[in-house]
Amino acid sequence: AQYPRAQEAINFIAPDWAEKSIPELPGYTDYATYRAHGGYALAASLVNGEEDAERVLAAMENSGLRGLGGAGFPAGRKWRIVRGQPAPRLMAVNIDEGEPGTFKDRVYLERDPHRFLEGVLVAAQVVGIEACYIYLRDEYHDCRALLQAEIAKLQADPPCPLPLIELRRGAGAYICGEESAMIESIEGKRGEPRMRPPYIAEVGLFGRPTLEHNFETLYWVRDIVQKGPQWFSSFGRNGRKGLRSFSVSGRVKLPGVKLAPAGITLLELIDEYCGGMADGHTLYAYLPGGASGGIFPASHANVPLDFDTLQPHGGFIGSAAVIVLGQHDKARDAALNMMRFFASESCGQCTPCRVGTAKAARLMQAPRWDNATLEDLNIVMTDASICGLGQAAPNPVRCVQKYFAHEVV
Ligand code: SF4
Repeated sequence: AQYPRAQEAINFIAPDWAEKSIPELPGYTDYATYRAHGGYALAASLVNGEEDAERVLAAMENSGLRGLGGAGFPAGRKWRIVRGQPAPRLMAVNIDEGEPGTFKDRVYLERDPHRFLEGVLVAAQVVGIEACYIYLRDEYHDCRALLQAEIAKLQADPPCPLPLIELRRGAGAYICGEESAMIESIEGKRGEPRMRPPYIAEVGLFGRPTLEHNFETLYWVRDIVQKGPQWFSSFGRNGRKGLRSFSVSGRVKLPGVKLAPAGITLLELIDEYCGGMADGHTLYAYLPGGASGGIFPASHANVPLDFDTLQPHGGFIGSAAVIVLGQHDKARDAALNMMRFFASESCGQCTPCRVGTAKAARLMQAPRWDNATLEDLNIVMTDASICGLGQAAPNPVRCVQKYFAHEVV
């Protein structure tokens, strides 16, 4: 009852051997069931030398898998970079999932936690990781109970020697989804992004080289290695490769997590995966990447949705949180909502973001926007903010100025 849409929200076909083992949670694959169906064989074969780490690394590189938290850095390349750093090396896993509209990690975690944990073990073995810190959004209470229980089962009956695995609770701060702020938070400090360089692959958690990954990136590791890199890269449309888990919300008939080919367009996503627009609504606008990825008009619904495809239009896909607006919605209202969110979630460390987001939110309340002053703020925030929050905060403003100017004159 706590997850009214959890089962039907996802088009991903859960294995029919899934079973309920913690009554208050939706059905999921527990440790015994996962192992009984071949789970952890890959991790164990790496540890005992039957599987070659270099072959696994090559599979990751050839699959084209990119960081699915939003940054899109090639996962295999990241493994190779951190592997080349001096030991001891650490891993930090981001399940903070704070981007507005994003809920894919929770949906997968609730169904198949060990597919993710095996990805952690495989990455740890290939890269040579001594300890893994999993940073979980504190609002995901039941996920924490589930993960704690399943990690305990894994540690009590390990399929192979395990690295240290620690589950850490976030504290509800959006900025702690930024990789370096998350690392500060895991270290017990205030969650503020670090200046880079040095990059966390070189100097990360506790000053050690650190492999940082989003939950979903690790979730796909087992399938990519066992089915082959071409399995993952064989999906895709419009010249793009791979799979994307879209968290779709807003004015569609069937919102939820939609596992679809990378490069699918919004129109295809709505028609083929979401049952069309909700009754009484026609497509007016959409946000392809949560709060930061911009707002686009219906005329842009044929743009392939993937990393890099939205940049020329002034946005990005990020964690693929697609929010669909209808003719009764206003893009300016969505943009104001986002700017208020940024102002509230700014860590306050740098002036362009701390002051700029608050001032922009005030200016955006006027019926007619002062576009010249807003653009001054946009430039300062983009050029002088330390991290992506401040740098991307102008995206919704600029999109409204460019595509929905009729709403703010
Ligand atoms: Fe903090 Fe904003 Fe500066 Fe990022 S850009 S470090 S969130 S004040």
